[in-house]
Amino acid sequence: MKTPVIPESEWKWFGLAGHLIVGRWCRFHMATQVGRVLVSTVGQYMPPEGLMRSFLELRGIDHDSARGDSLDHLFEETFRNGVDIGCGRQYETMVFITEPGNVCDTAWCNCGIPTHYGHNIFMRGTNTPLDAQVAHMTTCTFFAHDQESRIAKASAESGWEED
Ligand SMILES: [Zn+2]
Repeated sequence: MKTPVIPESEWKWFGLAGHLIVGRWCRFHMATQVGRVLVSTVGQYMPPEGLMRSFLELRGIDHDSARGDSLDHLFEETFRNGVDIGCGRQYETMVFITEPGNVCDTAWCNCGIPTHYGHNIFMRGTNTPLDAQVAHMTTCTFFAHDQESRIAKASAESGWEED
């Protein structure tokens, strides 16, 4: 039996990070709604200055004289793909169930990204921008096929139950 497919022409792309508290400091972000899931990839976390200095401190790197661009440069040279955002990973792809009919419409943002329950039913960590992009696309494709049974299986494996 042929299983249903959500064609790529029906996927919706968003320009802001789809998850993670520090998502807005992640230079790499892809967010795609495929049917009723949101696939979100973030990475290359470049924290704000105060934290940047702390991370450099931890690596024993002198940063006192670095300011503005030179601080950014020092940080990039040291961390390349950014600070880890999880255990052993600089990028992560997560899948969330969207809240039906709900999108971000807060006055200060209003980006239209679908809201979700915050619990990921799938996660894959990567460590290069290319791997992260591939992980994002393959995850979108995976959930575009036979979506309901794949959501059910992923939810069960992640211990998440829909109401
Ligand atoms: Zn928003």
